[in-house]
Amino acid sequence: MTTTAASASAALIEDLVDANRILATQNIFDAFGHVSARHDGDPQRFVLSRNLAPGRVAAADLLDFAVESGEPMAADPPPLYLERHIHSEIYKARPEVMAVVHHHSPAVLPFAIARGARLQPVCHMAGFLGGAGQGESPPLFEIRDHAGPASDLLVRNRALGAALAQRLGAGRIVLMRGHGATVVAESLRVAVYRAIYAELNARLILQALPLGPLQALSAEEADATRLTNEAQVARPWALWREQSRRATPA
Ligand code: MN
Repeated sequence: MTTTAASASAALIEDLVDANRILATQNIFDAFGHVSARHDGDPQRFVLSRNLAPGRVAAADLLDFAVESGEPMAADPPPLYLERHIHSEIYKARPEVMAVVHHHSPAVLPFAIARGARLQPVCHMAGFLGGAGQGESPPLFEIRDHAGPASDLLVRNRALGAALAQRLGAGRIVLMRGHGATVVAESLRVAVYRAIYAELNARLILQALPLGPLQALSAEEADATRLTNEAQVARPWALWREQSRRATPA
C-alpha cells in the first residue's frame, strides 16, 4: 500500500479504498457520495477521504477525523467533504456502527421524493430494509424541519448531522428528502453490501409496481434473510473488488 495520513490498520485502509472504488463502479456513487469506517485502533476516530470523487480515492487521500467534532485530526487539512458530519454524528449516536455510506443512488432517490413512497424489502437480498431495528420501511429525514425552508439540503454541520442520526434511530438506512440516503452497518463490507442492494431493491419495486400490488417481506423474513445474506458478504466483496480494480487501476 502507499502511505496514508490515516493511522488505521493497513487492512482497513485497503478495504476503505476498495469500498470507495466499488461503490463508484457499482454506480451507487457518481462524482458525489462518501464512505467512512470507524478507526479500528481508536473508536473515537473515523477514517474518510479528503474531498474527492470516490472513484479516484487512494490510500494517500484518507484522513483521520474526530468523532466528537467531525473535524480532521491533522492541522492544515486539504478541502473536506461538506457533509462529513453525517458520519461523525452517526458514529457518536451508534457505538456499534463501524461504517457509514452516504449516497444519492438513482433508484433509491425516487423513494426520497414521492410523498408516502416506502422502500420496503421486496427481495430476499435486501431484508435489511425491514425487520428488527428498521420497522416496515426506512424513515425519511426532512431537512426543512431542522434547517428551515431555504437550505441547500446539505447536512453541513453538527446539529444537522445529529438530527439525521436521530431520524436514523436504531435503523440501517435513512432516506433524505430530495437528496439521497445514508446506510450504516457493523462492518465496512456489510455497509457496502447494503448500499448496493438497497439500490437493487428500489429498482425492483419500480419494475414490479406496474405489474400488481407489491408483496413485501414480512418482518420475520426480513430478519432471517438479512442474517443469511450478510454472513456471506465475503463472496460479493471479492467479486466487486475484482471488478472495481479492473475498472479503476490504482
Ligand atoms: Mn449528499
